Amino acid sequence: MARILVVEDEADIQEILAYNLKRDGHDVVVASTSKDGLRLARERRPDLVLLDLMLPDGSGTDLCKSLRRDSVTRGVRVIMLTAKGEEIDRVLGFELGADDYIVKPFSVRELLLRVQAVLRRAATEDAAETTQFGLLRVDRGAHRVWVEGQEVELTALEFKLLITLHDRRNRVQSRDSLLSDVWKIDADVTTRTVDTHVKRLREKLGAAGAYIETVRGVGYRFAEGPGGLI
Ligand code: CA
Repeated sequence: MARILVVEDEADIQEILAYNLKRDGHDVVVASTSKDGLRLARERRPDLVLLDLMLPDGSGTDLCKSLRRDSVTRGVRVIMLTAKGEEIDRVLGFELGADDYIVKPFSVRELLLRVQAVLRRAATEDAAETTQFGLLRVDRGAHRVWVEGQEVELTALEFKLLITLHDRRNRVQSRDSLLSDVWKIDADVTTRTVDTHVKRLREKLGAAGAYIETVRGVGYRFAEGPGGLI
């Protein structure tokens, strides 16, 4: 089942949600403030956030924006909980990239059905976004990477570098082209930057680091590796 973060300051609603989601087999984490919600979203990496619109220290819409901006939480699914009559905020919820919204007061049954629907859709989409290359599994939607089943923490830049190399595998990519594609800067900036980041990326990838080959005097190539690793 899924891990679900409930960000809701009304104690009784929080309790009802947590109780019913747990009964449905989910792992539930709760927060009562926007600040705690963001922290727990980063730490616990939920699959779904149920997000109340009015929180004591800010709005759910701002928290939703923060989640979308953060490379760690970008891919999380969000269902907004709105009070009656907040029509504008409903629309806003979708503009913010919320996956669904539920108007308070809601029936628990309906909420659970919506949760199931969002999780089911997410599973289908994630399967399409997740690719496996030998030891390496990459989830583009959630910006997550695993090597031999162990998750590896990459920075946003390292993730982009990996994807760029991976998507043009078996082709040599020059440092200049990597600089312009990954860093979006011209080649007159030192190409040492590329080397430093590739080195760090290789280290983080452990055994899968061998997929990134150095092509002397030119750049890098993502390939099966000298030992036929894949
Ligand atoms: Ca509230």
